[in-house]
Amino acid sequence: MFKAFFADTYAEARANFIAAANQNQCVTEAHVNPVALGPDGDVLSTDLAYCGLSDAHSVLVLTSGTHGAEGYCGSGCQVALLNDRALLEKAHASGIGVLLIHALNPYGFAWGHRTNEDNVDLNRNFRDFDRPLPDNRHYRTLHPLLIPDSWPPGPDNVAAIDAFIEAEGGQAYREGMMLGQYSHPDGLFYGGRQPSWSNRTLRDILARYGNSRNRLVWIDYHTGLGPYGHAEKIFVQKGDVDYQRARAWWGADVVSVVDPDSSTVDIEGTALRALLEECAQVPELTFLALEHGTVPMDEVFLALRSDRWLARHAAAAPGQVAAMKAAHKAAFYPDHDDWRGAVLGQSRTCVLQAIYGLSTSWR
Ligand SMILES: [Zn+2]
Repeated sequence: MFKAFFADTYAEARANFIAAANQNQCVTEAHVNPVALGPDGDVLSTDLAYCGLSDAHSVLVLTSGTHGAEGYCGSGCQVALLNDRALLEKAHASGIGVLLIHALNPYGFAWGHRTNEDNVDLNRNFRDFDRPLPDNRHYRTLHPLLIPDSWPPGPDNVAAIDAFIEAEGGQAYREGMMLGQYSHPDGLFYGGRQPSWSNRTLRDILARYGNSRNRLVWIDYHTGLGPYGHAEKIFVQKGDVDYQRARAWWGADVVSVVDPDSSTVDIEGTALRALLEECAQVPELTFLALEHGTVPMDEVFLALRSDRWLARHAAAAPGQVAAMKAAHKAAFYPDHDDWRGAVLGQSRTCVLQAIYGLSTSWR
């Protein structure tokens, strides 16, 4: 039952999404990636579906696939919502438009990468490229260790990374890995040198569908951090009022990225910037990253590293490539009904809470 909303490939996810959107007579748009194709030569597209009145005072935005291969989770939740008549009617009755943006990074979704056609991590790409880019010195040190010559990493490699953590601390390791870097285009968490196609596409959509509203809520679906099946509600905005509102709507387990309990770090260059800039006229903006746990963090990091190793070793044995690709996919989309069920249940609750939040006054 749960499985029907989830896909095994990007192409299937896209077809499911478009079919469900058409069933609801949503307004749809296809934004086709101009430079890349999918594994079967198929189109790579960021699709959107809008349900509701065009002049609804509030809008609820759900995005999937910001990090490519993480898209199975958000896509499944979007398709589930399009099949959830009661929830859509509740939004409609509350004067809320629902905007679903499917596969923000369709290249990574289709090919099984976190990053896009230029190995750009979208959540490190939303920054002012006219200004000097930050230097991630820990990443510089880690880069040759993270993508070693041979795979899997041998005992020397493991010992060298352990030595780094011993010398610099666990936080330096997490920041080196996750803060983003602009020095190694073939590396991990690379932020790019210019706004990516997905960046520009998202900005265009948010400006047209968001900027005329009174209130906007955006839930961005991610996977890979935290306990298996648990949706961590990560708050990325900076304002106290926004934080209090998010906790009033979604509960006391909304965790700020600056909180030591958060499973991520405070990253610059995330897609939140597009919201703040393109919807600057909206009096109330609320953003939540919904981060779904999959496998232990070490395995997630290993999957990300293996993906970059594979990018350098096109001639690797087909059996090894297939096994590494499968492990990477499983690190961001556990193919189990208990995981899908947990994800869908928490997503529905968060969407319902957002609808309640948007339909009641705040302060
Ligand atoms: Zn992510």
